[in-house]
Parts: sequence; structure tokens; C-alpha cells
Amino acid sequence: MRVSVSVIKADVGGVGGHTRPSDALLDAVKSTISDAGDLLLDNYIGYCGDDVHIVMSHTQGVDNERIHGLAWDAFMAGTAVAKEEGLYGAGQDLLKDSFSGNVKGMGPGVAEMEFEERPNEAFTVFAADKTEPGAFNYPIYRMFVDSLSNTGLIVNKSLAGGVIINIMDVEEGRTAGLKLWQDKPILEAALMYPGRYVVDSVVTKDGEPILAASTDRLHNIAGTYVGKDDPVCMVRTQKLFPATEEVGSVFNNPHYVAGNTRGSHNMPLMPVKLNSAATINFCIPIVEALVFSMHNGRFTGPFDGFSTPDWDFVRENAARKAMDMRSQGFIHPATLVPSELEYAEGYKSIIERLNEKMVDMDDEGSRRRRDAAAESLQSANGRAYEDPD
Ligand code: 13P
Ligand code: MG
Ligand code: MG
Repeated sequence: MRVSVSVIKADVGGVGGHTRPSDALLDAVKSTISDAGDLLLDNYIGYCGDDVHIVMSHTQGVDNERIHGLAWDAFMAGTAVAKEEGLYGAGQDLLKDSFSGNVKGMGPGVAEMEFEERPNEAFTVFAADKTEPGAFNYPIYRMFVDSLSNTGLIVNKSLAGGVIINIMDVEEGRTAGLKLWQDKPILEAALMYPGRYVVDSVVTKDGEPILAASTDRLHNIAGTYVGKDDPVCMVRTQKLFPATEEVGSVFNNPHYVAGNTRGSHNMPLMPVKLNSAATINFCIPIVEALVFSMHNGRFTGPFDGFSTPDWDFVRENAARKAMDMRSQGFIHPATLVPSELEYAEGYKSIIERLNEKMVDMDDEGSRRRRDAAAESLQSANGRAYEDPD
């Protein structure tokens, strides 16, 4: 049977800041989805930090108006509760006033695919908070390109033959299909800059979908900072695809990603348990693994992929790396470059004030001021000052 799985997520409000949705907000989302009747085969609703994800199975295909409209209505219901409760950022990711056929470009993130369901269909959804779609560049590279991370790339015939990775340029809104293994250096050049190029999807050379990820950058839609475009991605596993443990383990080396506090810093991506709040320890970026089985579109799970004891060790490494980066405060690369800063307006206005104080070193006045400063330094030190000119 042909089944579609759509993962649609949005941040529509957090308790006391960008922490987690309230229980009442989640209930509002859940009751809207459960009112959908037989439109869905199954659904699961959870959260990662302040982002609510709705995982839906159905037979309507991708980019379907009814499925997207249902998710939009659910987030609207959540927003109404968030407003009643005075939650922070109520309706944060709903950037348009009314639904117009597809939530893409309206704020929510979407990862979805349609496929012929295998007898024991297995897939994992990765949901992240306090980061951006490019946060998945490194783990996806490890999944499909790096055989030191994934032995399946050597011993699984399908994976060893190479996959097609569709890369999106999030500035230009264009995609390129890169074929392994011939396009490996081109792929690496793109993945090098997660703020610009992100993985949109991965398919086998026969066109069978393996991975789909959300790629919207909110600030490209809103024109200004409205929160980080916290991503989701869905990966089919086992048989022709990577094993579940091959896709999970690529998150075991918490790499630095853009995001966290004010969406303006670099910190490591920490794997956490399902339905974790964002930490108020400077919002270390987090990622959850929802491991599903599916049969006739019915879910079993999710099993909490990052719940076993070994992940506590990885979390500790992430916390240590986070504290290391925080120890240098606002000094780049702890902070993002100006063009990537989410509070770019605030930064611009403070740099304006710096520019007002700047004088050209060739000016007569500034030369006099510099000479006077040199003289006073000379008398303070009691030794000769050598003009660098
Ligand atoms: P979110 O994108 O998760 O809403 O976080 C925004 C933020 O500024 C956190 O400090
Ligand atoms: Mg938020
Ligand atoms: Mg968020």
C-alpha cells in the first residue's frame, strides 16, 4: 500500500520563554488532530523544546492541502491557548494570517515523503530545537558518505552504490541533485556552510525516498528574526537503507551548530530524550530521535532513540563542549558572524555608534589626537615613543 508520512512542526508558544509548550497548548493541538476523522491513518504529537511536531500517516500524498490545512488549524488552536495563557512567543512560527494551500513558506517546518510501505516499515524522525536546518549537514554526511561512521556504506549493496542527495541553497531557494560517489567533493563544498546549503532529501538511485528534511529559513520568509527555524528530518531505515543504529549513532559526536540563545551563537547539538524542554542554560541546541515501526499506516512507537544510558555520556560531552564555548562569551566564533546574527538590527545600530566615533587616520585632526596620545604615553612611560610610520 502507498503511504505518506508528513511531519509538520511549529513553535506557537513557550512557558516563561522559549522553553516548552504548555500541556493545554499540546491538548489543543491533539484534539484538533483527533477531530480529523478518517483523513489520517495514524498520528503522534510531541515536542522538542518549544517546537511541537505532528507526525501523520495518510494516503493523500505530499504537499496535500487537507493535511497541511489540518496541521495549520492545529497550530492555530495551540496559538489560541498560548494567547489565553500569556505564553511567550504565542503564534511565533505562524507568519501568515490565513492558510493558503500549503504550510511551506508560512512558518511551520515540513518533512514528508510518500512510498510503498514495506511489510515492516521502519523510520526515525529527528526533531531539533534552538538551531537551523543546516544542523543536520554533519550527521547526514556521516550517514550516507562517511564509511568510518557507517559500515553499511561498505557492506550494504544499495548504500555502497551511492545515493542521490538533494541540496537546497536556502538563500536562493534552488536545489541540486548530487550523485554519490562522483559528486562527493561538490557535496562536501556545499555541506561545509550549513547556513547556506542544507540537505533537502535523499533518495536511492532508483528514486526510492530515504530521507526528507525541513529546509525553510524563517528569516527568509519574515524578513527579520522571528525565532530559529528549528528543523525536523525523517529517515527510513533497515534493508536497502541505513540501519536504525547507523542513523542514530551519527549524533554521538555533538558538533557545533548555529542557534541557541537569541539564535545568535554556536553551541554543540545535544541528543536528548523525547519531549525535553530547552535548557535555560543558554539554550544548548537539542535533538530528539523518534523511532517508529509502521504497518498499514499504523504506528508502533515512538521508541525514545536517545534514552539508553550511553547517551548520558554523549550529553555530558555536549555539556562540556557547550561550557567550553560559553567560556569565551561574546567573542566569535561563540557568536555568529553579523550576517547570520538573528538580532542583526540591534547589532547594526550599536555598530552605527562605533562608526560615528571612527575617524580616518589621514585626517589632520586625528593625526593631532594620535600625536597627543603618543606624547602623553611617552611622558607616562619616561621613554621614547617610536612612531610606527
Ligand atoms: P526558538 O527559535 O526556539 O523560539 O528560540 C528563540 C530564541 O531566541 C531563544 O533564545
Ligand atoms: Mg520560541
Ligand atoms: Mg524552537
